Amino acid sequence: MPELPEVEALTAFLAENAVGKVVTRVDLAAVQAIKTFDPPLSALGGLELTGVTRHGKFLDLDVSGLHLVVHLARAGWLHWRTGLPTAPPKPGKGPLALRVHLEDGNGFDLTEQGTRKGLAVYVVRTPAEVPGITRLGPDALAVDREQFAALLGGRSGQLKGALTDQTLIAGIGNAYSDEILHAARLSPFKMADKLNDDEVIRLYDAMRATLTDALERQAGQQAATMKGEKRSGLQVHARTGLPCPVCGDTVREVSFADTSLQYCPTCQTGGKPLADRRLSKLLR
Ligand SMILES: [Zn+2]
Repeated sequence: MPELPEVEALTAFLAENAVGKVVTRVDLAAVQAIKTFDPPLSALGGLELTGVTRHGKFLDLDVSGLHLVVHLARAGWLHWRTGLPTAPPKPGKGPLALRVHLEDGNGFDLTEQGTRKGLAVYVVRTPAEVPGITRLGPDALAVDREQFAALLGGRSGQLKGALTDQTLIAGIGNAYSDEILHAARLSPFKMADKLNDDEVIRLYDAMRATLTDALERQAGQQAATMKGEKRSGLQVHARTGLPCPVCGDTVREVSFADTSLQYCPTCQTGGKPLADRRLSKLLR
């Protein structure tokens, strides 16, 4: 699940390794991944990759004025490949979704594990044509403290949902929201518009610290090693049952239909476990 730090690091990696090269061909292996039809993917062939930027969790490759926009979703990843096979991949087999060939024989694969497919690719004339990009709130690393306070103050709903809502603040997903809330010592179920000034400052500082620490760890990593680097820096996310590195309490989990969150009761909820959504309403 790449979030702001990983997508930023992929952006830097591609800027160094791919920008300035001509895209010779793009192979589509997972038909459902492409969300646009005009211009066609084939329009990218023969054009130079001139830039790469990030919008929230979207990767935006500028191919001489056309944009190949990628959203890696939950289980998507970018694999840099040296010496790509020239034979077209077999559609619908394995995790490969899209393959981009560059003039020097290198390139990259977009892959997606699992059966729930969310990886999305768009070929557009401007990134503003991608609905998920036009709806993005301010970037998590660009928002200032006053703006952050105003955004939360105008939001009814729990902090976990607020931090991961890309239309409110862009770039944070399931993993880093758990980490940010842990660092801020706030319950994921606390209501966003009920924070006092001290809590808003703690949350803002935790957001910046968590994301910049992750960025520093990811900077200079090869695309292949970013996942492990991300995992090694986590304090509570995906660590259910393990001791909290801060206080030693056992990290707990709340499960939902298709996702889960992790938190430390001692650090975040006054020692009280959050059993489920119904219970959380009583505990907040
Ligand atoms: Zn703890």
